[in-house]
Amino acid sequence: MKNFELWNPTRLVFGENRIEEVNKHIPADAKNILLVYGGGSIKKNGIYDDVKKSLLVDRNVVDFSGIEPNPRYETIMKARELAIKENIDFILAVGGGSVIDATKFLCVAIPFTESDPWDIIKKGLGKKVKEAVPFGTVLTLPATGSEMNSGSVVTREETKEKLPFGGPLCFPKFSVLDPRVVASLPERQLVNGITDAFTHVLEQYLTYPAQAPLQDRFAEGILQTLVEIAPQVIANPGDSTLAGNFMWCCTMALNGLIQQGVPTDWATHMIGHELTALYEIDHARTLAIIGPNLYRVMFNNKKDKLVQYGERVWSITEGSEEDRAQATIERTVEFFHSMGIKTRISDYTEDHAEVVKTITSRFEERKWVGLGERGDITLEKVQEIVEMSI
Ligand code: NAP
Ligand code: FE
Repeated sequence: MKNFELWNPTRLVFGENRIEEVNKHIPADAKNILLVYGGGSIKKNGIYDDVKKSLLVDRNVVDFSGIEPNPRYETIMKARELAIKENIDFILAVGGGSVIDATKFLCVAIPFTESDPWDIIKKGLGKKVKEAVPFGTVLTLPATGSEMNSGSVVTREETKEKLPFGGPLCFPKFSVLDPRVVASLPERQLVNGITDAFTHVLEQYLTYPAQAPLQDRFAEGILQTLVEIAPQVIANPGDSTLAGNFMWCCTMALNGLIQQGVPTDWATHMIGHELTALYEIDHARTLAIIGPNLYRVMFNNKKDKLVQYGERVWSITEGSEEDRAQATIERTVEFFHSMGIKTRISDYTEDHAEVVKTITSRFEERKWVGLGERGDITLEKVQEIVEMSI
């Protein structure tokens, strides 16, 4: 196991009917609250009313709606303008990963005056910024883990770039996880959530053996639970017990715990982000396209863990190690297909003639020439993975 330091300051408030308590988790001296949300789903399913009812105590609440899926820098800058004008001292994000990620950028962009706040992302200043407006979240879509981590992904419309950033000031002060929110999720978002969380675990587990058996079993426990409850929660999203367990899997998949002491990959996400930036393919679906092909191309690096994952999660025990590792990749693809997730770029767009060239040239420009747990996913490998994914 590698050395590590684990710090996660987010207070997690889990359970049915906990949204009504949100006010008490916001510091008493915060007077001007910015309520950030997306395209309006929270107005239809009652979450907005529950939040508003709780906040009606002695607070000035200003709404900012319209954060889009794959949140745009341009939209967040409008929220920044409003927040400065209204002298906002606390932000409440009510939504899925997009609303929460947007809020993370907003909270560091508000006090940032040195240059264009895009520099926080483009020049990697996320860990260096010294000031941020504190924020909390009410999660409405289990998927990303953003409710309990310090990472964020923001898209710049103008250049069609989708880039990650993060830093210690980007942890939510608290996150409310009320399983009732799952009931109103369209199936598309539900299966996206399962697929995103599943891939988050694989990014931190499907690398090389690191003599970290507890970490392996945490990861396998999340994978097994997702496999077990996926069909049930899809069939019955209104069941709060199933929904709560699904939620907890998603949070645990990316709250920093399972990545401690082990190598991590993340190249599936890096390549996947490009597919969203170029074609607006849902984040999770890009992972289902890229992940399996990355495991195929980087097969030798991942073979030992593929065998272990196959045996412990999918009960694949017959054949040579080579066969079992291959069968495990196929079984993972079948899992995605079983939820109606398609796994090829051409399933989503015919406009892919330039995709390989665009992605590799962007990676080259950013000097992302050695990704993955061993730093050996070169531009040639990226090319092979994307070609295989078309
Ligand atoms: P999302 O983009 O936040 O939301 C997708 C859609 O679901 C929106 O249209 C939203 O509608 C709707 N929705 C949300 N909650 C709902 C509910 N309870 N009922 C009905 N509809 C609901 O989806 P996401 O998958 O959570 O987030 C994806 C983003 O997170 C991507 O940009 C991805 O790159 C990023 N991400 C971040 C991390 C991280 O660690 N920070 C990790 C992985 C991915 P409304 O807009 O109307 O609310
Ligand atoms: Fe993700």
